[in-house]
Amino acid sequence: MRATIIEVAPRDGFQPISPFIPTDEKVALIEAAHAAGLRRIEIGSFVNPAAVPQMRDAAEVLRRTAHLPGLDAQVLVPNARGVALALAAGARHLVYVISASEPHNRSNVRRDVETSIAEYGGAMVGLPEGVRVRLNLATAFDCPFDGRMEEALVLDRLDRILAHRPDVEVGLCDTTGRADPDHVHSLASACLARWGGPTRWVFHGHDTYGLGLANAAAAWRAGIRDFDAAFGGLGGCPFAPGATGNTATEDLVWMLHRMGTRTGIDLPRLLTLANRAAALPGASPGGRVRAALGWKAAA
Ligand code: ZN
Repeated sequence: MRATIIEVAPRDGFQPISPFIPTDEKVALIEAAHAAGLRRIEIGSFVNPAAVPQMRDAAEVLRRTAHLPGLDAQVLVPNARGVALALAAGARHLVYVISASEPHNRSNVRRDVETSIAEYGGAMVGLPEGVRVRLNLATAFDCPFDGRMEEALVLDRLDRILAHRPDVEVGLCDTTGRADPDHVHSLASACLARWGGPTRWVFHGHDTYGLGLANAAAAWRAGIRDFDAAFGGLGGCPFAPGATGNTATEDLVWMLHRMGTRTGIDLPRLLTLANRAAALPGASPGGRVRAALGWKAAA
């Protein structure tokens, strides 16, 4: 069995960090992730730099990592303007984010969900040949404002989004980290049963409540084979004490390898990278395996 891990620290993990991480350091960390065997990396986002100043060098990071052999660099975009900016910078793999929940979508991208879905549909028309698209459904399980999301509502959102274009990859995002394994198994199973190919499914988990690995395992048992994760468990929100980042890539790799699953990732190299990322000024690192095995990386 094989799983694919999509490294999202350079976007989801870096974006809440202050001070600004120098572009040279971002590029070096992405190069180290590539050297550890990661081939799909979310290298940044094309968002309003006034709202997310950490991502203001996304175009430069994209350009300076383009030489890495076999790298599939994806970038997050929140709207049609982001799509235009990303394409102008040479991006070939877009991650378009829409929230399942109304208040989170308004807070995140300042539009209602219907407007976002219509704008997404418009942006899909006339995309250059060969540009791939992933749709991130944020708050697919839980919303910071509305709480637990009804599965029927989430499936209805996906129905409307996938009507625009079925050949996308969908990220089921546990934005708050409050999903539980039963919930993840239920929604993932429903999605896989309702939409087989050409739609692909990814689980994007956060470890805020310590359920990141349990939720990933539940997604795995439901049949999902692609997972987002962040080296060093980077992430968190400076305005939400106790909030943590994505499930740590090294924790997920450790678990999958223990389960006999191949990932193509070199864990010692990944640990060295995770330790370096965890030491970034202003970072809120997470994960457990780094502490358990950190001595190996240092040796
Ligand atoms: Zn996230």
